[in-house]
Amino acid sequence: MITKFFDEYFFHPASLEYSCFGCGYNCSYCFAKRTSKSLHGDIKQAVNFLQHKGKSQAYKIYKKGYPICLSNRTDPFSPPNIKSTEIFCNVLANENDNQIFFQTKGGDLPRIERILDSLRNENKGIIYITITSLNSLSKFEPNAPNLENRLNLIEIAKGKGWGVAIGINPMSEQIAGLREYEELIDICEQRGADFFLAAGLYFGKFKEKLTEEEKSKFTSFPNRREAQKLSDSILNILQKNHKNICGTSDDYIPLLNFYQKHFRKHTPLYSSFLNFCDKNLKSGERIYMDDWEYSMLERCGDIADFDINSTEFIFQEDWNKWKIDSEAKNLRTLRELVLYLWKKNTFQFSATTNNFTENRNGELFYKP
Ligand code: SF4
Repeated sequence: MITKFFDEYFFHPASLEYSCFGCGYNCSYCFAKRTSKSLHGDIKQAVNFLQHKGKSQAYKIYKKGYPICLSNRTDPFSPPNIKSTEIFCNVLANENDNQIFFQTKGGDLPRIERILDSLRNENKGIIYITITSLNSLSKFEPNAPNLENRLNLIEIAKGKGWGVAIGINPMSEQIAGLREYEELIDICEQRGADFFLAAGLYFGKFKEKLTEEEKSKFTSFPNRREAQKLSDSILNILQKNHKNICGTSDDYIPLLNFYQKHFRKHTPLYSSFLNFCDKNLKSGERIYMDDWEYSMLERCGDIADFDINSTEFIFQEDWNKWKIDSEAKNLRTLRELVLYLWKKNTFQFSATTNNFTENRNGELFYKP
């Protein structure tokens, strides 16, 4: 299925996703494989979507050339999916210039190379390769490609002009030690990786769905908050030596700038606003709502007023806070969502917090 994708709204550049669930790599911490039994994307539906006129919101976004993520819930190069990924890319290259955001742990490299070669230059975007450790991949990701495969993929992707981000996701002292993470980053950088994103290991309600064998691999089952605290403590140390790494609770701006560099069009990213302020405002100057609206919608102006039911894209935890707000429940377009966030000052809780001051009247001033 090709669907709208704003799950990580304001933090992910892709507007569409082609996906199924799970992939056979059988990672012990995988959430996706527990949500559905289907391991196969519907490639017939996808090809039909790419080639024919449609009326869905997703189709309109596709025709405007917005990036497609393959995939947030499965691995596009894993054995059950690589054939449909191959077909998908062949058809896309013939039809449109949407850029691709691949999320993968690697796979059959000659075949992946052929897939990358089948795409046009205009389709190139970012390959996000997950590497969680140097020494324990076979323990936590028993069927996934080995380390060398993934390192080689970094080189292949860079050689073909793709941006490469490495997901150290999940990051946990249960998976690797600090020294190992240092080494992992060094090795990936030597092979050409541009950026690293780390997220803590947590289970929440998925803990109950782990098999006994999977459970035995972990010594504790932190919740989201605990996981963040643990991964933040590792990250704080890593960031002393490495500037191109950030965490999910961190200052995202360098990562988002990296995304912006590689995507011509994308859904709103917080970095757009900060970059706008850097470019146009002096320290102490007042910021107006128009600045926020213009900068956040600058690279998605042609879909800003589509009815896309934007409430769907609010993070689950934020939605719990906002669901009592009738205005939030009725948000339809990206523009409405962006203006709503300004009115509620919600963006001030974002990664950009430190760059602004507010006076008693709620007016906002730039403080680089
Ligand atoms: S590669 Fe991703 S989707 Fe596949 S099993 Fe591992 S975590 Fe799940």
